Amino acid sequence: MPFTYDLSEATALTRALVAIKSYPGAEHACQQAVADWFVRHGMTPEIWQTSAAPNVIVKIHNGDGPTMLLNGHVDTVLAAEGWDCDPWEGRLDGDRLYGLGACDMKSGVVANMLVTRAFAQNRDAWRGTLIFSSVVDEEAYSIGANAMIEQGIRADYCIVSESVHPTINIGATGKILVRAEVIGKAAHGFMPWQGINAASEGAKFVTKVDELPLGKHPRIPASQSILSFLSGSAQYVVTIPEKAEILVSRQTVPGETREVVMKQMQDVVDGLNSPATIRLTTPPPYYPPFEIDPKHALVVAMEHAYQDEWGEPAELRYSTGVSDANLTAELAHIPTLLYGPWGDNFHQCNEWVNLPSIISSCNMFTAVIRKLLPA
Ligand SMILES: [Zn+2]
Repeated sequence: MPFTYDLSEATALTRALVAIKSYPGAEHACQQAVADWFVRHGMTPEIWQTSAAPNVIVKIHNGDGPTMLLNGHVDTVLAAEGWDCDPWEGRLDGDRLYGLGACDMKSGVVANMLVTRAFAQNRDAWRGTLIFSSVVDEEAYSIGANAMIEQGIRADYCIVSESVHPTINIGATGKILVRAEVIGKAAHGFMPWQGINAASEGAKFVTKVDELPLGKHPRIPASQSILSFLSGSAQYVVTIPEKAEILVSRQTVPGETREVVMKQMQDVVDGLNSPATIRLTTPPPYYPPFEIDPKHALVVAMEHAYQDEWGEPAELRYSTGVSDANLTAELAHIPTLLYGPWGDNFHQCNEWVNLPSIISSCNMFTAVIRKLLPA
């Protein structure tokens, strides 16, 4: 039967991937399991190297036509404290599978695997190219997605199968990290006038940065957080701190480029007239904000698929967090949206995925691909 998906297979495959620990930088075994599965099912996975673990890419060429990219990541965040079961055992409870990465996002990767195999086996039903991509390091620096883009991935459409149900996400805030390095001059704490206190100067910088106006956008919210402020010695000593380091995370909206943010930050530094030296840099990761037109064919096709699968209209939403979708959309210029199996407790203990929703995602992706890559 063409394009039918088996719940017990989806369950077993998700459990198998959850069982393989895959923290950022250590996804090799999980990627090998993904590649081996494709080999077992008669397809030829490509191993694309990165500066960390490799990406797994599978291309199904099926004549002239557009290209659809299905994307997901196999790395997980670090296991939080307080799990009721082993985070890698894949405990089943009714429709739920508990496990680290169950919904963020090994189940999404599994949906992409099953859909890719179904299209490889039903070539009469479509034309074009389908590309499966399992990438690494999404939860840290997005080394995998960045490498895949630098190595020239091209497509006309991209679905990132992150768990965003019951919405379809068609845009997201961006993110720029700003590091301020404050260099003062050490002195005896009883004679502070002989030094330049990097902690005091850094505090003035933080106060002004907190007052900066953020970007405005009708749909995507901007925000900013001081993530860390390190200065002085951890051991008690009576010395004026000569260094401070401040890390600011700026969540940007369309129009707020890295240049715009850095100009704002440099203006703060210049306005302080500080006796200290304050150096600004933007360490990785960097994610530009993105949005796709709600009337784009990819969005319309996914809305129809959602309506057919769930019997109610989808809500279109913009993510307040970043993902590899920011990179495929803005760095690779591929119209991108996010949709995938639903679950909860990601980035916490007792993460779970609703198993039947993996099949729902498969059905929806199938409908979207058949609509956009018709025979
Ligand atoms: Zn994720």
